[in-house]
Amino acid sequence: MGAQRIIYMDHSATTFVKPEVVTAMIPYFTEHFGNPSSIYSIARESKNAIDAARVQTAKALGADPDEIYFTSGGSESDNWAIKGVAYANRKRGNHIITSAIEHHAVLHTCQFLEKEGFEVTYLPVDQYGLVDPAVLEKAITDKTILITIMYANNEIGTIEPIAELGAIARKHKIYFHTDAVQAIGSVPIDVKAQNIDLLSLSAHKFYGPKGTGALYIKKGVRIENLIHGGGQERRKRAGTENISGIVGLGKAIEMVTADIPGHSAKIRAMRDRLVKGVLAAIPNARLNGNPEKRLAGNFNVSFEFIEGESMLLWLDDEGICASTGSACTSGSLEPSHVLLATGLPVEISHGSLRLTLGDANTDKDVDVVLEVLPKVVAKLRDMSPLYQKSGKEGGCNV
Ligand SMILES: *Cc1c(COP(=O)(O)O)cnc(C)c1O
Repeated sequence: MGAQRIIYMDHSATTFVKPEVVTAMIPYFTEHFGNPSSIYSIARESKNAIDAARVQTAKALGADPDEIYFTSGGSESDNWAIKGVAYANRKRGNHIITSAIEHHAVLHTCQFLEKEGFEVTYLPVDQYGLVDPAVLEKAITDKTILITIMYANNEIGTIEPIAELGAIARKHKIYFHTDAVQAIGSVPIDVKAQNIDLLSLSAHKFYGPKGTGALYIKKGVRIENLIHGGGQERRKRAGTENISGIVGLGKAIEMVTADIPGHSAKIRAMRDRLVKGVLAAIPNARLNGNPEKRLAGNFNVSFEFIEGESMLLWLDDEGICASTGSACTSGSLEPSHVLLATGLPVEISHGSLRLTLGDANTDKDVDVVLEVLPKVVAKLRDMSPLYQKSGKEGGCNV
């Protein structure tokens, strides 16, 4: 096969770390290694670096620096927000509202709380993955203490009407959390204007390091700690700080929020050419997610009569990294809960492909995928008994 260039179209799974971010982090592994809780001067360097990253993070969200708490990533932030608010407000009520298409960090946390005596409503979404604000408002009871709805979906890229949902929560004096892990750098965020009380983010989804995240907690929110121990993060999140990671998060969030419209336009242009080309070249294909209200880099498509994982293996053979909505790894053919919630039939969900574009991509990458993907789909369909039986060479019955 020879030296093959990797075409990375899986930016929603994780991103490479920008060189400027790595450069910013390196001194905090070497000369500035002090524990920020100590009092000598190298420790002060560490403390100052954390303070600076807190300012960078706050600025990107329209928050105050003392409303930012660093964590180990998106999963911890989601767990902390949901369990922390649930436990601290138990006397007021035991009802939580979320959506059916959340990331497992939110869904599984809610399912855990159901075992602890909380009641959870999983709001349905429309065919594009949108939560209806009117449906949210109807689900509120006098026991509701928390509403948690993701900012943008990691599989289909749909961007939820966060400001409207937040306004409803505010009107009913209910805390509003959003998992904004996929939104940072793609959508301008202003926690005050959008009525957001808690917001989760994760550095490795926006060209920062893995294992570092943050939770924005609006001043005055009643929340229990998740990690108990030392007095770090103003006594709210114990554990010696991941200084280099925090510095990297700060640098990365500053970089990706510097020019969101300009950067998104560039990614969107590549994505749109890919969508158009794929849908034109491959029959019986359908775009998943909202055509307009979607992340600039997200393309999620279903091809009838084939199976997502075989598609990934053939694409991998061509050096193309992608994802599928069908996870058959454990033999337990389990299609994506997100695609099913949009009403996509199980068989079609199995033939889903997610390509998420970002800074690792060029126009040349789009050319290569446009050349390779139709061949892969055609080859798999040729091997598919379902396709033979359907007698379909064009048209679409979805
Ligand atoms: C990746 C992701 C998470 C989990 O973040 P980690 O930092 O990997 O723990 C949570 N929510 C969404 C929407 C994500 O895409």
